[in-house]
Amino acid sequence: MIMRFKKKLSIELEGLKGFRNPKIELEQYVTPPSLVAEIVSNACLIDGLDRKIIDLGCGTGILSIAFELAGAESVGFEIDRDALEVARQNSRMAGVNPDFVLSDVRDVKLKGRFMVVMNPPFGIHRKHADRPFLEKALNIGEVIYTIHSAGSEKFVRSECTRKNFAITHIWRYIIPLKRTYEFHEKDFKQIAVEVYRIERR
Ligand code: SAH
Repeated sequence: MIMRFKKKLSIELEGLKGFRNPKIELEQYVTPPSLVAEIVSNACLIDGLDRKIIDLGCGTGILSIAFELAGAESVGFEIDRDALEVARQNSRMAGVNPDFVLSDVRDVKLKGRFMVVMNPPFGIHRKHADRPFLEKALNIGEVIYTIHSAGSEKFVRSECTRKNFAITHIWRYIIPLKRTYEFHEKDFKQIAVEVYRIERR
């Protein structure tokens, strides 16, 4: 059942649009649909989808939209107006209606018990560009699903320990990153990532 759901979701997400003019300084890459479907399935099985989903740095909206397609309610925050325009178009195309808010993640102020999902900048261009994302997630989240580049465990663990959160799962994947920027030589590059599930103690 879950396998079929995952496959169907992944195929549906394949139809969404990516960044129109990706901005390198913001590290804009779309998360591959198959990985998004995998995260939604895991969240569904482990946590259920009763909590509101907060998608930090939602980009073109793939995570927010996927969670809505699975039946959750989501809100995406994003600093780039152009990306949000695509996210809104994508939502209409998918027939769902997440909220999208133009905001720096640092300025997000929320009260409640949320499930935070995110694929933050990995800090390839600026070291630890993912730090403000993780900090915000640890402030507003009860449960967090977050994607980082391979080798981030020490950093993620120390942030979690400081805020009294526990890492319950680490999934490792090799994902194809689509050619997004002119300087990329190949159409696809394989990169190793880690998906963390983190929960408040
Ligand atoms: N979540 C999307 C996009 C991932 S790329 C997906 O999974 O496909 C990272 C996103 O974070 C980009 O869209 C970038 O514009 C956004 N971003 C970078 N710094 C940000 C900040 N300080 N506040 C909000 N969004 C930011």
